[in-house]
Amino acid sequence: MTKKRVFITGITGQDGSYLAEFLLSQGYEVFGLVRRTSTLNFERIRHIQDQITLISGDMLDQTSLTRALKDIQPDEVYNLAAQSFVQTSWQQPVFTGDVTALGVTRLLDAIMTVNPAIRFYQASSSEMFGKVQEVPQRETTPFYPRSPYGVAKVYGHWITVNYRESYNLHATSGILFNHGSPRRGLEFVERKVAYHAAKIKLGLINEIRIGNLESQRDWGFAGDYVYAMWLMLQQDTPADYVIASGKTHSIERLLDIAFSCVDLNWKNYAVQDERFMRPAEVDLLIGDASKARAELGWQPQVSFEQLIQMMVEADLKLLKAEHRL
Ligand code: NAP
Repeated sequence: MTKKRVFITGITGQDGSYLAEFLLSQGYEVFGLVRRTSTLNFERIRHIQDQITLISGDMLDQTSLTRALKDIQPDEVYNLAAQSFVQTSWQQPVFTGDVTALGVTRLLDAIMTVNPAIRFYQASSSEMFGKVQEVPQRETTPFYPRSPYGVAKVYGHWITVNYRESYNLHATSGILFNHGSPRRGLEFVERKVAYHAAKIKLGLINEIRIGNLESQRDWGFAGDYVYAMWLMLQQDTPADYVIASGKTHSIERLLDIAFSCVDLNWKNYAVQDERFMRPAEVDLLIGDASKARAELGWQPQVSFEQLIQMMVEADLKLLKAEHRL
């Protein structure tokens, strides 16, 4: 039997690396888009690099996307590429819109040109709910994004729905709430807290500068969330799904858990810093994943506490190796 072929944009990112691992374990032939950089940033996929094929291209370059699909002839495409950091989206709003919003249209258009039977997944975000119109948020909750990133993701969501309805594509928008892992970028708050707790424990630094302590998020583990992406593309009929833990935690609680993993009290080390506050904060983000539970049979396996512990332990190990401690 011929192997199913998959094309993943954003394969060098957190979710891309977990998804590639999972699809390899399912017997897929995995292809990933990588953009040209002066130094390679393949840390997250180094351990599977000999099992996947990397294709050069960019979400800003239509030709590279169409060519990649023509060469690969994939069965499934997962669009995970994005300028994905909310804070940066205020500093680079046009670039964020180009990659995170218009990039989706470029890829959908490439699918239309090459083979409309390709199944498509779009990485949508709870940031689309922003100033929340209801609690908890579900698939039918109206969007009210509060950052250029959120606005770009709303565009990506609707262009996916539009191509599905206009051209009958098997196109799905997965509205994922926050998910982290030891592979999360250091700029994201859950990784920042885990990393700083480990660094403080090892005596490498003595403070953590942090923004709004009261903001609340619904967090899960990236490994659980990429499984949901795959389940979505295995459905006969494409639809949109919210993926969330259904529980919300404040930054204070995050600090509590991370620092208690290393037997420290965060209050002795945390300094509030205006620079990490958002110009416009989102409200109480908490997702209702009951549609995904009912239709996909999806349930998260890793709790928030387990996730933070996993991240702190991984960072301790990483830092000890780096500093030969
Ligand atoms: P991430 O770690 O920041 O990865 C982003 C990926 O996009 C990287 O591989 C990056 O490549 C790639 N990329 C950025 N600009 C590109 C361009 N112009 N052309 C080609 N590739 C480009 O993000 P993540 O956490 O894995 O998230 C995956 C997706 O899910 C993103 O779309 C994100 O917005 C969305 N999402 C994430 C969460 C979450 O909590 N993690 C929640 C909801 C939605 P480089 O390595 O070259 O930079």
